[in-house]
Amino acid sequence: MTIATALSATELAAVRADFPLLARTVRGGRPLVYLDSAATSQKPQVVLDAEVDFYEQRNAAVHRGAHQLAEEATEAFEDARAAVAGFVGADVGEIVWTSGATAAINLVSAAMLGSTLDAALGRGSDASRRFVLGPGDEIVVTEAEHHANLVPWQELSARTGATLRWLRVSDDGRLDLSDLDEVVNERTKVLAFAHVSNVTGAVAPVATLVAAARRVGALTVLDACQSVPHLPVDLHALDVDFAVFSGHKMLGPTGVGALYGRRELLEAMPPATTGGSMVEIVTMERTTFSPPPQRFEAGTQMVAQAVGMGVAAQWLGELGMQAVAAHEAELAAEMLKIADIPGVRVIGPSTVGVGPDGLPDRVAAVSFVVDGVHAHDVGQVLDDAGIAVRVGHHCAQPLHRRFGVAATARASASVYTTVEEIVAFREALTGVRAFFSVD
Ligand code: PLP
Repeated sequence: MTIATALSATELAAVRADFPLLARTVRGGRPLVYLDSAATSQKPQVVLDAEVDFYEQRNAAVHRGAHQLAEEATEAFEDARAAVAGFVGADVGEIVWTSGATAAINLVSAAMLGSTLDAALGRGSDASRRFVLGPGDEIVVTEAEHHANLVPWQELSARTGATLRWLRVSDDGRLDLSDLDEVVNERTKVLAFAHVSNVTGAVAPVATLVAAARRVGALTVLDACQSVPHLPVDLHALDVDFAVFSGHKMLGPTGVGALYGRRELLEAMPPATTGGSMVEIVTMERTTFSPPPQRFEAGTQMVAQAVGMGVAAQWLGELGMQAVAAHEAELAAEMLKIADIPGVRVIGPSTVGVGPDGLPDRVAAVSFVVDGVHAHDVGQVLDDAGIAVRVGHHCAQPLHRRFGVAATARASASVYTTVEEIVAFREALTGVRAFFSVD
């Protein structure tokens, strides 16, 4: 593997010491083995401290009020935006705070619906015409999407008369690009896809997909929820139009996330939510809106959470995402050894390789089925051993249907996960079929 050196044992020990929750025990004193980081990550002390410090010292609403606290709160909020922007290779004005990735995708789809309604009523700016959709237009997603990056596009298609199409997934869990040029064609207006699948852990070929969209003038929306916490991500280099990610999956708080939008697109886009804090002049008849990003941040903002997310981005940035990716590639390789356990089938790529960008071509999120044992029962037995995995469809029912399974169990790691924990997981999983007498 040509990617950077992973974390040393000393660095990893120091990382773990930063996460208070990892020290607790579960199920009658067993050490916690937390393998559910793809659902939500644990938080380092600095993130917890930043939220407490904000409430203890600076709490005020931002972008209003002339008092010192309001000034300090606004500064902390905007510094956090700059930290998050720098972390993902964006300009500070290109990051819009949202309550999470789901809200960010809905913001884009709602702005497109709003543009479509505006155009039908003869209102809206000329610039917003590029977001208008109608019969004959196509929105393309993939079969691997989390429902958050599927359902909003289904709804937008249904409401505008556009057609939803999708790229399929191959047996190895990677995107099937054999019909890419047919599916992404001159009718395509939007191509929305996950950078990394939350089920298979596979990294999508972003450059190929963006090039296909560019050829036909379609807008790209990257769901970066499962990449930003685990791989170096440079949104300008990836050249996507929009991207979304959540604070709570990248060691930050819940209730906060970000929408990235290329500056000229955010400038052209109408607001999806209106109200206080996003306006310039309001009369009884009409309103002029603030420039982005404030245009998309109506209402009192989640300031403490944003501050926490900024600190999480800084914490990860200081550790170095190359090292994080290399560490997690080792964990992925360890996890994938479960395929050697009789009766265990991995859904998704069975090896960790190096992608064209020199980064791992999959992350340490591995979904699997155990012959003859329901995923929920697998989860129960692992839980008895103190091992926390996710079971169910992981908000990706179409992908599960594609593989002919209703549910899988998923083990997923983060920067604080150790090889020893993966070994403990493998050992516990080895006993599952015997436990249910299906050997
Ligand atoms: N996209 C992917 C790939 C995810 O894994 C998730 C969360 O599991 C989401 C979107 C939605 O994120 P959130 O629930 O934080 O809005």
